[in-house]
Amino acid sequence: LAMQPRSSARRHDRLLGGLLVDGFNEESCHSRYQSATYRRNPGRQPSTYLISKLRRHESLQMRCRPGTAAYSNALAQLKSGKSVASPECRYIVSVPIEGLGNRILAAASAFLYALLTDRVVLVDPSNDMDNLFCELFLGATWLLPPEGFPLASYANFSIDTAETYGNVLKNKVIGGGADAATTDAQLPAFAYVYLHSDAGIHDRNFFWDEDQRLLRHVQWLVMSTDNYIVPGLFLTKAFRGELGKMFPECDAVLHHLGRYLFHPNNHVWGLVTRYYDAYLAGATQRVGIQVRVFGGQPNSPEILEQITSCTQKHKLLPEVLAAGEPTTLPASRAKKKSKAVLVTSLKPWCQEKIRSMYWEHATATGEVVSVHQPSHEEYQRFGVKSHDTKAWAEIYLLSLTDVLVTTSQSTFGYVAQGLGGLRPWVMYKPANGTVVPDPPCRRDVSMEPCFFQPPNYNLWQDQWLDASKIVPHVQRCPDFPWGGPET
Ligand code: GDP
Repeated sequence: LAMQPRSSARRHDRLLGGLLVDGFNEESCHSRYQSATYRRNPGRQPSTYLISKLRRHESLQMRCRPGTAAYSNALAQLKSGKSVASPECRYIVSVPIEGLGNRILAAASAFLYALLTDRVVLVDPSNDMDNLFCELFLGATWLLPPEGFPLASYANFSIDTAETYGNVLKNKVIGGGADAATTDAQLPAFAYVYLHSDAGIHDRNFFWDEDQRLLRHVQWLVMSTDNYIVPGLFLTKAFRGELGKMFPECDAVLHHLGRYLFHPNNHVWGLVTRYYDAYLAGATQRVGIQVRVFGGQPNSPEILEQITSCTQKHKLLPEVLAAGEPTTLPASRAKKKSKAVLVTSLKPWCQEKIRSMYWEHATATGEVVSVHQPSHEEYQRFGVKSHDTKAWAEIYLLSLTDVLVTTSQSTFGYVAQGLGGLRPWVMYKPANGTVVPDPPCRRDVSMEPCFFQPPNYNLWQDQWLDASKIVPHVQRCPDFPWGGPET
């Protein structure tokens, strides 16, 4: 009888249910096929429709990739400034801005929009986007080659740039008629889609069907956002059917997109795996705690209390005994359960306090608690490679935990929860910064991130609205109530 091979590839689904394709050189990107072996929670299964859509999209990226005649033609069109009736390939360029969480959520949003609208997605390689991830497409690229791209300083467009979709609409360059009927001759060769937190109502009109009908004919879109705009795409009626088929479990959009798109490159994967194997792998359970603090903020006993009361109230971490209280001794050392706590933060203070607490006091349950923090960078840095690689490794490590506690309104935590398929316990910001909120945390409604700036006006209908009332499963975000819907 032949022995069955017990390789990790057999026990773990290296292609994540068909989300990934085989055939990449494994040496060039260890994480792509190894990530499943590091996940205790295998996560959700992607739908067959999503898989087929991804395969079709990969062919499109191949057919229209930089270096092809189709791409050169599209660039020539862009240089000419004129639209073309039926271009062979249409593109969306995603411009990364702000922190790493923002950049990842922006790229995921642009990618989903590209899937929905049959556009080729190209990510601007600035802000380390070319230094953190593996290549996404086999034989093609997801990075925009900056040389030869004719839009000068395209990455710095702002709310005031004339070519933003909002300004084009406001100035009636397109969409002048109430029925949004516009001839090809009127259409520009490109438009900037500006969806930052300060975007105006015209920019945020982007999500309505009339706008999508107009934008379909614009060959090049350059999109910049610091938001997870995916819930907004559910507001477009024309996209809803496709989204429903791609994501029958609508709370798992970032979960699938994140696992498809963002593979740590070999350097970052080394940071992830060495840390995981050294400090987290052996524990019975891993608890991730993301403490988002800001550079100038003093050490906060209130945040520490919020963390301990949240984790102990919900039995994520054990309570500790007072000095001298009799301890529960397990029958043997080998039977002791252990929890490894991964704290991520810019400052070391909270982690040091929690670690001391579990050293100086026995736990009420007899569990062993070890507490670890990979780095403390002190303040957010921009354009520093080693800073970004640590941030990415820590986001990924958080996603490998079994239980997650996050700070509200943080895209850093959002990416971790989506990748991990984890519904986190969210610590809300104290109302006045000093009082510990009661309750200290709440379970998030889903693993999906919140959309901070949903549209609240429909220009075509001249109507103010509440985006969370339009689609039943798109609700207001509990951690950002004045913000927007979450799927
Ligand atoms: P957000 O600002 O909380 O939404 O998250 P972002 O990831 O967009 O921006 C915060 C940035 O600050 C990160 O990308 C890191 O550069 C840095 N940062 C914040 N918290 C941490 C942390 O816990 N660990 C590390 N290594 N960097 C952090």
